[in-house]
Amino acid sequence: MLLPDRCSVKEKGKDCVNPPEFVISVLEENDEYMVGVTCLKHKDRVSEKLQILQNEAKIPKGKIKFTELKSVGTACVKSSPDDLIQL
Ligand SMILES: [Zn+2]
Repeated sequence: MLLPDRCSVKEKGKDCVNPPEFVISVLEENDEYMVGVTCLKHKDRVSEKLQILQNEAKIPKGKIKFTELKSVGTACVKSSPDDLIQL
């Protein structure tokens, strides 16, 4: 699984340069949809932002899950985290 090497958050037009610490995914039934990665600093705000995106139907509804990067296995995860998360 290929993961970005930086936090996916873009804040005030600037990309966050912190290394990612958590993989953000949304659990839907039996599927897991990867949204991006985040550093610890942005974790809480990303969580809030994702709920807004869910309400706007921009990402799948479901439980938002943060997985520590070091514990991410090779499980099949649907992903295309190309878009940065604009806060
Ligand atoms: Zn960040």
